[in-house]
Amino acid sequence: MADYDLIIIGSGPAGMTASIYAARANLSVLMLDKLAPGGQIINTNEIQNYTGMGTINGAELAIQMYQHTQELNVAFDYRTVKEIREENGEKLVCCVEEDKVYTAKSIIIATGTRPRMLGVENEKQYAGHGISWCAICDGAACRGKDVVVVGGGNSAVEESIYLADIVKSLTIVTMFDLTADPMACDKLRAMDHVTIYPYQDVLGFYGDSKIRGIHFKSTKTGEENKVDCDQVFEYIGLTPTTEPFKNLGILNQMGYVEVDAMMKTKIPGIFGAGDCVTKNLRQVITACADGAIAAQSAAHYVQNL
Ligand SMILES: Cc1cc2nc3c(=O)[nH]c(=O)nc-3n(C[C@H](O)[C@H](O)[C@H](O)COP(=O)(O)OP(=O)(O)OC[C@H]3O[C@@H](n4cnc5c(N)ncnc54)[C@H](O)[C@@H]3O)c2cc1C
Repeated sequence: MADYDLIIIGSGPAGMTASIYAARANLSVLMLDKLAPGGQIINTNEIQNYTGMGTINGAELAIQMYQHTQELNVAFDYRTVKEIREENGEKLVCCVEEDKVYTAKSIIIATGTRPRMLGVENEKQYAGHGISWCAICDGAACRGKDVVVVGGGNSAVEESIYLADIVKSLTIVTMFDLTADPMACDKLRAMDHVTIYPYQDVLGFYGDSKIRGIHFKSTKTGEENKVDCDQVFEYIGLTPTTEPFKNLGILNQMGYVEVDAMMKTKIPGIFGAGDCVTKNLRQVITACADGAIAAQSAAHYVQNL
């Protein structure tokens, strides 16, 4: 007899929404996360595009979502999942901590993504010591300092707007032009202390024990530039956090979980949801929508066993 009808791996917006729908469908549910519930929104300053919320702090939204799961008595355990296996028709969720193994009738993988790195000179050396991927965590220490943001998409622009209120100068170095929401881009462009370098390849970082600046090259003219700074924030895209599921044969070449419109993978009883699945728009609202659909599919699967 399986421990749970459904185990959800990851407690970001996708996992938490899945747990709410599954609990309301009377499934016994366990949600696992290696970190505190909330996922990436914990480290997001303002979310301005989640319907009905206006502007809300990311951590506050995470708390509200978690409270909602607890009103439905969803079980939660701090665990890092390292593998999923099938044995005698049961699904085994294998965790790092104490080699704990849970069994389930169905599983939703909602493990999200992590920031991609540039892979350039001195990046590893300054990672966590001058290069950060989290403006909420490290932005406060940048008051009155010269700061560089690498990237020009939605995350880069949103976090730049947040940082612009704190820092002395903000330089944005991006591979193309700013590609984020036009209203947000216009807001940034209108700020006097913000300089934008579009169409640039980052060559590396320089400094001593501390980062001192960034070196980049125009992809249009080949002109090289160095900008001195105290801190760099990188927002250049995402890598799916799906390494534990490689053995299942359900990932695409980029490592995203391949799902259909009902969030089913090709393995019966295993579903995907949120940023870790193949899709075009990775946002809180789409993660929640995936979670709802995945939970409904899991409920149908369990009821038909
Ligand atoms: C800087 C930034 C700003 C953003 N701003 C916005 C915004 O304004 N509006 C918006 O809609 N979206 C925004 N997003 C995107 C949004 O945060 C994501 O789309 C959303 O969090 C995805 O939810 P998820 O549940 O799929 O994954 P995640 O939020 O990534 O959660 C995945 C969870 O899985 C856990 N996990 C991973 N691997 C394991 C494992 N092996 N075992 C156990 N647990 C595991 C992680 O710890 C994490 O808690 C932003 C993202 C970033 C990075």
